[in-house]
Amino acid sequence: MNSLLKIDHQHVLHPYSSMTDPLPNVLVDSAKGAVIQLADGRTLVDGMSSWWSAIHGYQHPDLDRAAREQLSKMSHIMFGGLTHAPAITLTESLLNICPPGLTKVFFSDSGSVSVEVAIKMAIQYWQATGKPSKDKMLSIRRGYHGDTFAAMSVCDPENGMHSLFGDSVKKQIFAPAPTVRFDDEWDPTDLDALALLLKENNRDIAALILEPIVQGAGGMFFYHHEFLRGARALCDQYDVLLIVDEIATGFGRTGRLFACEHAGISPDIMCIGKALTGGYLTLAATLAQQKIADGISNNGGVFMHGPTFMANPLACAIANASLKVLLDSPWQERIADIESQLMRELSKCQHLDAVADVRVLGAIGVVELKEAVNMREFQNALVEQGVWIRPFGKLVYIMPPYIISAKQLSTLTTAIHYVIEHLTPK
Ligand code: PMP
Repeated sequence: MNSLLKIDHQHVLHPYSSMTDPLPNVLVDSAKGAVIQLADGRTLVDGMSSWWSAIHGYQHPDLDRAAREQLSKMSHIMFGGLTHAPAITLTESLLNICPPGLTKVFFSDSGSVSVEVAIKMAIQYWQATGKPSKDKMLSIRRGYHGDTFAAMSVCDPENGMHSLFGDSVKKQIFAPAPTVRFDDEWDPTDLDALALLLKENNRDIAALILEPIVQGAGGMFFYHHEFLRGARALCDQYDVLLIVDEIATGFGRTGRLFACEHAGISPDIMCIGKALTGGYLTLAATLAQQKIADGISNNGGVFMHGPTFMANPLACAIANASLKVLLDSPWQERIADIESQLMRELSKCQHLDAVADVRVLGAIGVVELKEAVNMREFQNALVEQGVWIRPFGKLVYIMPPYIISAKQLSTLTTAIHYVIEHLTPK
């Protein structure tokens, strides 16, 4: 075994892995565009955008340049008492493109932390406005919002990590997951359970938190925009805040800049991350409506959070470059092209015995199997086919960089078909 891989295997921990007997990892040397270069000389077409983040592919010249220019000034500076142009410019750009009404931006280091910040904002808001009993979160089953404790508490209680951490995870309230699919005819009864929970528990609920339109890591399900629109209306009716987690969906992935736009709604609080820096550095943000700021601070209150690397200038400079690259590009056309190619090519998987469902939205393609995959075998077989796709459970899914070529995308879809056909029982 390569000596680096040996150290990796013995000492380096990877996501959701055994601490003593992890599955093997693939050693990467570099990445450019939509191609990952392995240390052993092989190349892989990237189907994952490094978990939704590298939307422009790797080594984008404009993002590289922004990083170099910012490095020549300062890589980091504390944000308490100091401020800088990269953060201010980024705030202004985000407020211009995010759903209307959001006026305040809190930068943090990762998606999970941005969710913690959102939950803290919601709780502080009700404390400061005289309704301290409103300190619970209402969430939606099959949701995923991150791995820190408050974020875990609002993830799906069954496929999340609740049972493992017991009472260390706060008990929240859960509504059933939406069932009407994105393209199906709307059925208003899909909102009934949510409405009832809000009616009965609104005195205890600070906020409803959900992923708009795409339930990601909890099942890769695309739901109807009327569910989101109805959820917004119910929150208004019952005086509950709406927190929208756009960490995976933000920056064009679903065909709209933000998934909220499918429903034409604005949240009270919104989390973004992942593609914010084009996948270059870890940066996230929690955006809030003026009402939240006024509620927390009009009587002198301060918002109690302040990470060391808040608004890291290097990350903000790259985020500014990434936003410019995205907005100057024909991103809608690109995503529409990816969507129609994914529909055309992945639908060929539908006839395979092992396949339960194929679904596509924007630049996201999902093949749901009837049984969970054997990760070790699947991963190896996909790499053998020259692609980087990381399935989980029953889901084989891709969200490629927007700059992927039609040929590279076909390499991904062909590999998915081939591997499912050859590695699942007939
Ligand atoms: N929310 C959603 C919807 C996510 O997909 C993720 C990351 N998979 C997170 C939150 C957590 O983000 P991070 O991994 O950056 O902490």
